[in-house]
Amino acid sequence: MRLTIVGSGDAFGSGGRSNTCFWLETAKATLIVDFGASALPALKARMLDINKLDGIVLSHLHGDHFGGVPFLLLDAQFLGRREKPLTIAGPPGTRTRLDAAMEVFFPKSTGIKWRFPWNVQEIALDVETDVLGHTVRTTEVIHQSGAPSPRTRAHMMCIAVRT
Ligand SMILES: [Zn+2]
Repeated sequence: MRLTIVGSGDAFGSGGRSNTCFWLETAKATLIVDFGASALPALKARMLDINKLDGIVLSHLHGDHFGGVPFLLLDAQFLGRREKPLTIAGPPGTRTRLDAAMEVFFPKSTGIKWRFPWNVQEIALDVETDVLGHTVRTTEVIHQSGAPSPRTRAHMMCIAVRT
């Protein structure tokens, strides 16, 4: 297993660091844990090839943790000419929030005929879940991120990925 810390900054780029993004290569897959708004240029600066990605695991739905995903999808569609499937795993509500972000940033982008298959896998809280052969365990914590949505106060997930 090889872990590359692409971004470890806060939402505001303090210290010149990129938003959260961890590149994880295992024997089974290449994953990214979190993909904040500034993650795509940070990956490119490190010469990491997004076409190698098999999946993205999102801890929660703040822009500094998932805001780069629309850019990644469109980069893969139009620049990378990706054909490999991509799994995006995240907390309950991920698909709705991702579609909303796509439409805010790039209107009508949710209607694109994608050249590669991608899917959203929503991970239940406090249940070990398989993501591309890796066990993802989540822990609910108090953090106002708007997901999962039906609760009176929102939560994020602390995640652990086991290979
Ligand atoms: Zn947050």
